[in-house]
Amino acid sequence: MTDFDDIVIGTGMAGLTVGALLANAGRRVLMLEAHDTPGGYAHTFTVGRHRFCAQVHYIFNCGEGESIDAFLSKIGVRDEVPFERLDPEGFDHIVVGRERFRVPNGLAKHEARLVRRFPEHRAAIRRYFGLVGDVGRELDAMKDLPARITPWVALRSAHRYRHVIRHMRSTLEDVYDRLRMPPLLRAVLAGQAGDYLLPPRDVSFLLHVALVWGYDKGAYYPRGHFFHLVDTIVRSIRARPGCAVLTEREVSRIEVEGGRVVGVTTKGGERFSARRYVSNVDPKRTLELAGRESFSRRDARRADYAYSSGNITVYIAVRGLDLRDHGFGSYNVWHYPHADLDRIYDDQGLRHDLSDPWLFMSTPTLHTSAPGLCPDGEQVMEIATSCDHARFSELRRRDRRAYNAEKKKVRDTILDVIQDRYVPRLRDHLAVQVTGTPATNERFCRAPHGNAYGAALTPAHVTMDRGPVRTSLDNLWMVNATAGFPSVAGTVGAGIALYEELSGDAV
Ligand SMILES: Cc1cc2nc3c(=O)[nH]c(=O)nc-3n(C[C@H](O)[C@H](O)[C@H](O)COP(=O)(O)OP(=O)(O)OC[C@H]3O[C@@H](n4cnc5c(N)ncnc54)[C@H](O)[C@@H]3O)c2cc1C
Repeated sequence: MTDFDDIVIGTGMAGLTVGALLANAGRRVLMLEAHDTPGGYAHTFTVGRHRFCAQVHYIFNCGEGESIDAFLSKIGVRDEVPFERLDPEGFDHIVVGRERFRVPNGLAKHEARLVRRFPEHRAAIRRYFGLVGDVGRELDAMKDLPARITPWVALRSAHRYRHVIRHMRSTLEDVYDRLRMPPLLRAVLAGQAGDYLLPPRDVSFLLHVALVWGYDKGAYYPRGHFFHLVDTIVRSIRARPGCAVLTEREVSRIEVEGGRVVGVTTKGGERFSARRYVSNVDPKRTLELAGRESFSRRDARRADYAYSSGNITVYIAVRGLDLRDHGFGSYNVWHYPHADLDRIYDDQGLRHDLSDPWLFMSTPTLHTSAPGLCPDGEQVMEIATSCDHARFSELRRRDRRAYNAEKKKVRDTILDVIQDRYVPRLRDHLAVQVTGTPATNERFCRAPHGNAYGAALTPAHVTMDRGPVRTSLDNLWMVNATAGFPSVAGTVGAGIALYEELSGDAV
């Protein structure tokens, strides 16, 4: 088949965004997806009468005029995908030890609540929120910068972005240390750390602010669930003349001739070609698919990064109880056994000790009343925590029985914590339980090393030039969580940026 203008390899959120925008602009777009369902980490899988979104729980940038809203408007489906706002008085609840803190919308409100709880640290709290505001506003303003930053632009803009520039190399812990924050306050302010899967010692302060700032404007859940969001985008592509979204088409080779891509071949032996190619596949893998020797040294340097952490997710449905009676609702609950997040991450990631894990607990059936995830009378909860990829993938390769035993052990520990601390007799109410490891992410989402968020979100990888990439091959671009930023908002934003670069049309 050769009649395409653009081939997009992969249907993660970045791929779907750029594919849908190009299709909407009249280009003949072919999307090729390895899995049997589109969406990447945002896809939904079915187990009997239950459906679970693989990895997405809540998103930002859905308010009027924000990037996700603008994207859906541009492709003409905005009214089909309404969003529910999670509780503005506390869209995330952070539980450290025995104490619960609610993260509200409105940084001033959040600050005032923390000052009430920690009056002796009033000055540090004020300075922290002041800095978050300064950096957050500068990050917003950076969207107006031109795509190519010349030395002149950099020089002229330096004062306007001075807080961002000053903190380019800072971790969250650097900022905490400077403000002399006490341990409990550090833990509470980093309570959403699972959204970047790094402890304060390692995470880029700028990335931390981008996340806090993004969710502060509103935390959202699609009223019809994530499968409806993905299906609607896919349908919009398929409805355009000359466009197609094909699943179970794993691209095994990108063919290069004379510095250009001339076609792609799938594992099944099909060959497709187009004028232009966009890879939504991890950049390192993309280079391997085309042959590393085809790329410039600059491309090779860009593809030299450490991956973000792996994770375990337990998907359950309960019947005969209401999770609202046990501290759950239109918000997520983050559980930490104690305030030392650096140690908790090290225990789980480096020492493989998941005996007392931190937990992220999300309850999609309490975020919207729309049916579609489970039978009437049941509720769904998705629970995630961090772990090392290598241990699980090696175990799976070497000894499937040992792998399954380890998976079960971790799942049982997680259910024990929830039963002891939140939902008495939880086990008596379980209708279904499914567990995914980093090896599962690698298998079903093709995430190398089971990485949750692309390249690790340390200062070394959170750079000003992180974004969609035009490679040294004349007609090949890359866009995903690494060639862009992770999260649905981050990858949709990267897809929009690439579309605008390719088409010259603003979204
Ligand atoms: C535990 C966890 C929790 C998260 N929670 C949230 C959340 O609550 N909110 C949020 O906004 N974000 C969340 N994220 C992050 C978010 O899901 C991702 O950053 C985002 O979805 C990644 O999109 P992507 O475009 O990079 O593509 P991916 O999701 O990585 O998808 C890439 C696609 O390409 C396909 N592919 C790969 N190789 C090939 C090939 N050779 N041929 C054809 N197809 C191929 C894959 O099968 C896949 O479908 C979470 C992630 C994890 C792991």
